[in-house]
Amino acid sequence: MKYVSTRGAAPVLGFADVVLAGLATDGGLYVPQTWPTLGAVTTGPYSELAASVFAPYVGEDIDNATMFRLCEEAYSTFRHPDVVPIVPLETGHHLMELFHGPTLAFKDVALQLLGRLFDHILTQRNEKVTIVGATSGDTGSAAIDGVKNCKNIDIVILYPQGRVSDVQRKQMTTVDSPNVRTVAIDGTFDDCQDLVKAMFNDATFREQHNLSAVNSINWARVMAQVVYYFEATRKMGGPIDITVPTGNFGNVLSGWIAKQMGAPIRRLLVASNENDILTRFFNSQSMDVTGVHPTLSPSMDIQVSSNFERLLFEMNNRDGAVTAAQLGRFRDRGSLVVEPDQYEQWIAPTFRAGSASDHDTLSTMRSVYEHSGMLLDPHTAVGVKVAREYAEDGIPMLTMATAHPAKFPDAVERATGERPALPPHLANLFDLPEHTSALPNDLAAVQAFVAAAH
Ligand SMILES: *Cc1c(COP(=O)(O)O)cnc(C)c1O
Repeated sequence: MKYVSTRGAAPVLGFADVVLAGLATDGGLYVPQTWPTLGAVTTGPYSELAASVFAPYVGEDIDNATMFRLCEEAYSTFRHPDVVPIVPLETGHHLMELFHGPTLAFKDVALQLLGRLFDHILTQRNEKVTIVGATSGDTGSAAIDGVKNCKNIDIVILYPQGRVSDVQRKQMTTVDSPNVRTVAIDGTFDDCQDLVKAMFNDATFREQHNLSAVNSINWARVMAQVVYYFEATRKMGGPIDITVPTGNFGNVLSGWIAKQMGAPIRRLLVASNENDILTRFFNSQSMDVTGVHPTLSPSMDIQVSSNFERLLFEMNNRDGAVTAAQLGRFRDRGSLVVEPDQYEQWIAPTFRAGSASDHDTLSTMRSVYEHSGMLLDPHTAVGVKVAREYAEDGIPMLTMATAHPAKFPDAVERATGERPALPPHLANLFDLPEHTSALPNDLAAVQAFVAAAH
C-alpha cells in the first residue's frame, strides 16, 4: 500500500515512512491510495481484529506476526477484557466505552499502538527521535504513556502552566521514565503550540534533534481507531447509527473509513459542543471560522478540525491541487463552501450533525444519572444529547464514550452531585511525586531544554 498527500505535492510513501513523517512535506495529510475492503471479520479477540484491519494498510513494511504482537502489547494495557466494551444506556441506545486505557480517554486506543509502532520502525532503522508536542490536557498524557517504555524515543510535552486540570497534569508529571520530560510554560495553550510549530519550522534544529510529532493527523492514529468501529458492528450487527463526540474529526473519520471498508454503518452523527463549526458545516455546506471558547468538554474546543482535510480530499475526487487551493482560500477568508453535488454524494448519505451547549451537557449528565445511575463524562454527554435527537426506531444507536467520568470530576459533580472516583490503577495519583520543569514563553529557552533532553 502506498500513501499520497491530500495536497498532491509530496512524495508517495509506504506505511513506515508515513508513520514517522506525520505531516506530508506539502503541508497535507497522508491517505492510502485506495480504501481496501475487509473480507470476513474474525470472531477472535480485539488484537486479532486489529491486526486484520491493519494488514492491507501496513503491507510489506511490518509482517503480520509482528503487527499482532504490537497490538497485543498495546491493548493489554487496557483494564477491560473486551478492551472497548459495549454497555446498554437506554432502549435502542448503547455506549462503547473507549476509556479503559491507561490515561482514561479514547486517545489511548491510538497512542498505545503508535508508540510501539514508532519504536519498532526506529529499531529496524537504527534511529532515534525526539517527540515534541503541546497539550491542553488529554493528548499529552496519552502520548507520554504510549512511549514511556520506548528505547528509541525521547518525549518533551509542553503544557500551559495552571491551565490544565489537576488530574491531567498529574497524569503527565508523575510518569517516572528517563525519556519523558514535561514543561509548564508561562503562557496559554496557543503559546505552547506556537513554540512547537517554531521548533518544527527551524529546519536546522529539527534535523539536529530528529524532531517528530504524534498529533492527531498521524495516519496510524486514524487507522488504529478504525478497529473499534468493526468491533461495534461485529457485536451489534448492522446497519447501525454511531454518534461521535468530535473535535479534530479524527475519531469520526475513522468511522467513515470503516464504512468504506465494508462495516455496516448507516449514519455517523458528528456531535459538537458550543464550538460547533462542524455542525454548522454539515447543516449548511459552508465552513465558517469563528472564535473558540472554553466549554465543559475541553478536548472538543477546536476552531478548525485538522482531519477534515482527508474527507475534503475525497469530496474533490482525490485531486490534491484542488484541495490545496481550496484550503489556501479557507486560510485567507475563513470560509469554505462545498458544491451541492459534492454534498449529495459524500455528506448526505452518511453524516448528520448536532451540537450541545454546556447547559445541554449538564442536563444530559443529570438525566442519565437519574435514569440509570450511570456517570457520563461531559464529552460523552455531548454525544448522548445528539444521539437522542437523531435516534430512529428500528436502527440501533451506539454513542462513543470518549473519556472516563473521573477525568472530569468537577463537571460530573456539578451535574449529578456525585464525585466520580479514579479507577484503582490511578487511585494513588495524588500521592505520587511530580517531575516537571517550568520555562518562560521563550523559544530559545525551550530549544535549549529540548537540546538537553536526550
Ligand atoms: C480528543 C477527544 C475528543 C475529540 O476527538 P477527535 O478525534 O479530535 O474528534 C473527544 N473526547 C475526548 C475525551 C477526547 O480526548
